[in-house]
Amino acid sequence: MTPDDPPREGPRIVLHVDMDSFFAAVEVREHPDLAGKPVVVGADPKEGEGRGVVCTCSYEARNYGIHSAMPISRAYRLCPDAVFLSPRYPLYSEVSERIMAILRGYADRFQQVSIDEAYLDVSSLQNYEWAATMAARIKDDLLSEEHLSCSVGVGPGKTIAKIASDMQKPGGLVVIRPWQVPELIHPLPVTRIPGIGRKTAIALRQRGISTIGDIPRTDIQVLRDIFGKGAVQIRDLAYGIDTSEVRELSGSKSISRETTFVQDCDDPGQILDTLRGMAEILVGDLEQFDLLARTVTIKIRFSDFSTITRARSLPCQTRDPRAILCTARDLAFPFLAGRKIRLVGLRLSSIALIDRNQKTIGDFLA
Ligand SMILES: [Mg+2]
Repeated sequence: MTPDDPPREGPRIVLHVDMDSFFAAVEVREHPDLAGKPVVVGADPKEGEGRGVVCTCSYEARNYGIHSAMPISRAYRLCPDAVFLSPRYPLYSEVSERIMAILRGYADRFQQVSIDEAYLDVSSLQNYEWAATMAARIKDDLLSEEHLSCSVGVGPGKTIAKIASDMQKPGGLVVIRPWQVPELIHPLPVTRIPGIGRKTAIALRQRGISTIGDIPRTDIQVLRDIFGKGAVQIRDLAYGIDTSEVRELSGSKSISRETTFVQDCDDPGQILDTLRGMAEILVGDLEQFDLLARTVTIKIRFSDFSTITRARSLPCQTRDPRAILCTARDLAFPFLAGRKIRLVGLRLSSIALIDRNQKTIGDFLA
């Protein structure tokens, strides 16, 4: 069983969310006196003798020419007065987990790609205007909840979304519809395509290709010489065809349903009825496959696209519709007053097969 796929009537729309200088931003948040200063997170510079590299640096440090993966000794020479900090990975992953939980709530399908980056398939929104509104909400949410800034790119697939998120860092929000690819992406250097490194860029330049717009003008055989089987995909990308899909990681066993109201709804009775209907369907799915679930998650999307998720684990695994519905109702109730709601969702996770050998109270009474 897999999570529901969103309906595929409209175009595929993908968001790429990338936190801005993540480690440095977390450090500045923890030490507000560092705000506005060049902050470098990485190896100990040891007065310029240190080995190792820069992990992340603040935008103020970038103004001195410092960037990630640069030798720390070089960073020290560029700006000896910068604040040099050792990375605190446990702290960053804790913050990352909270960020990813927020982002997951916004996605039909969700794929985390690193500690500070994720792709969100939001195709069920069905148009780029709503996707842009949602992207703005996500930025607001991360600022208000975590006091951290991110850049968001919106596109027809992962690759174009990622190119877009990189175009106005920090704090950017760039939307690239497929038909805007010539205007927005063609002027960029080929190295902006994820996966095209310096070596490939040199090979491309020798054949007269320096911008993304040079790609569709190039004979496919020349592209094959450089990219092999990937040639068609690269050329399609330059035409605005981006086939890279958001893939949920396997192993996340859950079942879910979502309902978008025909008109945004502020009637608690109607919302609870909708949750009941979805709980019954999901319990039916559990019964069909002999499964039990333990964690109930509700999702509520308001009319302004801000989205919350709340989860609770039950004391034991169950498929009792009343237990599931009561939990969902308790979770949803605080959000039902006053604000118009666009969508509700219900997800059951921590799913396991019924253990036929497990003793029940009946075994002892028999
Ligand atoms: Mg980042």
